[in-house]
Amino acid sequence: MLSEERYNYEGSGMAVMEMSHRSKGYLKIFEEVKADLRKVMNIPENYEIFFMHGGATGQFSAIPLNLLKKKADYIVTGNFAKKAAEEAAKYGEVHLAYNGKEENYKRIPKQEELKLSKDADYVHLCANNTIFGTEWDYIPETNGVPIVADMSSSILSKEIDVSRYGLIYAGAQKNMGISGLAVVIIRKDLIGEAKEYTPVLYRYDLTQKNDSMYNTPSTYSIYVLGKVLKWILNLGGLKEMEQRNALKAKTLYECLDNCDFYTPLAKKDSRSRMNVTFTAPSPELDAEFVKEAAERGLLNLKGHRLIGGIRASIYNAMPQEGVEELVAFMKQFAKEHAL
Ligand SMILES: *Cc1c(COP(=O)(O)O)cnc(C)c1O
Repeated sequence: MLSEERYNYEGSGMAVMEMSHRSKGYLKIFEEVKADLRKVMNIPENYEIFFMHGGATGQFSAIPLNLLKKKADYIVTGNFAKKAAEEAAKYGEVHLAYNGKEENYKRIPKQEELKLSKDADYVHLCANNTIFGTEWDYIPETNGVPIVADMSSSILSKEIDVSRYGLIYAGAQKNMGISGLAVVIIRKDLIGEAKEYTPVLYRYDLTQKNDSMYNTPSTYSIYVLGKVLKWILNLGGLKEMEQRNALKAKTLYECLDNCDFYTPLAKKDSRSRMNVTFTAPSPELDAEFVKEAAERGLLNLKGHRLIGGIRASIYNAMPQEGVEELVAFMKQFAKEHAL
């Protein structure tokens, strides 16, 4: 679809990539993408949608620069959450409300384990821990302190209640399209208190004032996000996405639970529906698994370099058939390499 219109978008004689971000043609695309995101995620009117640069990591800096006045709580459930906390600590006081490092980030904490501060400016959490394969299945009670959530690897995978969050952000490359774009959904009353030395591109007030066009936005990434949103709308929205993703995850975890050969890495009550992490009986067999899988066209199964093992990332774009093929391979591999 993208390749057909690559050179001539709607008869304009131009590719989207060639359009000026201020041209009528592009602005129409831009407005439609924003409206579709609002529709798909059911984003209330008191929230702004920003398209920013620097991926999710850029927001690790932008969030404290704009929101941290005195103190922020960080819930550290994985490597990206840890990075976000370390970055924020450069700009203000960071309190770790929970740190899962000792337990190798294999689970999501329970509400009663969170040591939340009463006077925090916000509570930061990572909704889905991409590397370790854990995911929040509840929104913590923070007694009015706004929740800031990194949803890079779970946004658009299920229905969420945006009004329960102060700010949601995501790098676009996992569930929203291609890299080069960070999407920020922010409650309007949180905008406007950036530290005076905040780089202009990371200021939420300027981003709001200029409708994400203080400088040239990542035009093509935004355009591709629009295509992804239309695809989701045509399928039946996030309700349908959620059902599909639940079935995919169930298929994989059932296979893991019914086979002694594999060891799942995440605790059962904390399992991610997007990133399924496990190991074979030895690192050598992990490597062999990844190699043999690739020979069958099952790609990208190597675990993250931080933890090794095997990881199946089953984002929105992965169909149920792909998961079933993987499960068939897992069963065969276990049989062939049984100890
Ligand atoms: C991938 C990822 C990031 C980093 O995203 P970039 O856009 O590359 O900065 C941050 N957080 C989570 C949860 C991720 O999965």
